[in-house]
Amino acid sequence: MEKLITQYRDMQRKLNAFQYAMYVIHWDSATEAPKGCFEERSKQIGVLSEEEYKLSTSKEYLEAVDQLFAGKDQLDPLLRHEIIQAKKRNDKITKIPMDEFVQFQMLMAKSQEIWAQAKIKKDFSLFAPTLKEIIIFLRKYVQYLQTEQLQGYDILLDEYEPGMGQKEYDQFFGLLKEKLVPFVRKVLQISNKKVYPFAKEIYPKEQQKQVCEYIQKVLAYDLNHGLMKESEHPFTSGYGTSDVRFTVHYLEDDFSAALFSAIHELGHATYEQQANPALNGTGCMGGASMAMHESQSRLYENVIGRSYAFWETHFPTLKEMFKEQMADTTLDDFYHWINEVKASYVRTEADELTYPIHIMLRYDIEKELINGTLSVEDLEQVWNSKFEEYFGIAVDSIDHGVLQDIHWAGGMVGYFPTYALGSALSSQIYYHMCQELPVDEILKEPTTAKINKWLQEKIHWYASSLYPKEIIKNAFNEEFNPQYYIDYLIEKYSKHYKIK
Ligand SMILES: [Zn+2]
Repeated sequence: MEKLITQYRDMQRKLNAFQYAMYVIHWDSATEAPKGCFEERSKQIGVLSEEEYKLSTSKEYLEAVDQLFAGKDQLDPLLRHEIIQAKKRNDKITKIPMDEFVQFQMLMAKSQEIWAQAKIKKDFSLFAPTLKEIIIFLRKYVQYLQTEQLQGYDILLDEYEPGMGQKEYDQFFGLLKEKLVPFVRKVLQISNKKVYPFAKEIYPKEQQKQVCEYIQKVLAYDLNHGLMKESEHPFTSGYGTSDVRFTVHYLEDDFSAALFSAIHELGHATYEQQANPALNGTGCMGGASMAMHESQSRLYENVIGRSYAFWETHFPTLKEMFKEQMADTTLDDFYHWINEVKASYVRTEADELTYPIHIMLRYDIEKELINGTLSVEDLEQVWNSKFEEYFGIAVDSIDHGVLQDIHWAGGMVGYFPTYALGSALSSQIYYHMCQELPVDEILKEPTTAKINKWLQEKIHWYASSLYPKEIIKNAFNEEFNPQYYIDYLIEKYSKHYKIK
């Protein structure tokens, strides 16, 4: 057993080195690489990924994992968890026929560009044949991987969020449909004609950057192990606790985009930075799941970052930094503006309250696509009619409709639900935080360090050494419960819009 563990760890050290190199290259590609370098760069990436693939599919590695898996009951709990995950990944590689896998990779190499063109030309028929191929592959894929417990769409859902399948999500979205949709309709009927002059001002990039740097300090981000840059789409990427970076994207006519994505990405980054450093280099580093990650980013962005208490403390500084644009702006106006609810077509522009409805729409559709009850040909029409049913307005243009997201073009089906699940988890975590900490008092302090520390103890420390369900259960002695989310949203927005 000792020998096997050493063999496994040796291979893992090499894999880590390849993955770290790729991590740095991808970061550079998305942020500061000169435009002319990509052709040459893709050759180097090709070699690195081929070597990495060879290592992770080598007989030596697969055997080590298999044998450790067979003797998993003798392993310490950390290594056992890691080996179970590794075995799951290996099974995937071995169960999908090689030629089908390669074909799919080739499809993926061009599908996003085809989608982008279809979106620009606002023509679904340009993307439909490609999407059809993707769905056909995924329908076969789930058959190869199905087990007694998991079938069809479950397989894809479980990949992004272990332990969550159609049964669990049906319950979750069922509750949203029953409790939240009628409430959202009520809110949307209240006309909001208030005009906010400061929102129409121009905010130079340099000023916004200073605000984001201020936010880094407020959220106590560790700059010794992290940095911020600019990219087309904001993201966080980390490798262990010692190197966790994030990006923002500045829009000069809407400073809230960079401000709130900085808070959002810092939520992701704090999660990674605050893990147990002993897990670095093992298969247990990084977040426990997509939804767990999203629960942290949304807790900081929405629950804390859009709260009155937070801005009571920080609005004077913001106003000072945007002196000219915000001279006449009051805290109340600012607070109302950042929490405005609108029926919007585009998911990424949606407010906190309507956001999960956008996800529910995608869940309904993905489920039917994978389980075979909806065909790609009918997709546009089904999207439009469901959208109108949920939001009360008709889709105005297809690039704001079924063609808005890149996910399906990237083969990512089953991913969307984790966004809503993450938001729901953040409400549950926040409920318990308020039971144990004087949150509003802490938000009067210059930094959120005490909140960070509480989250570290409850969640961050375990990284991905436990399943999300175990982390929640250990921390709060209960299961995931979406009722917290419904209660949080209805309470906050009833107050906001004075609904009884
Ligand atoms: Zn996120």
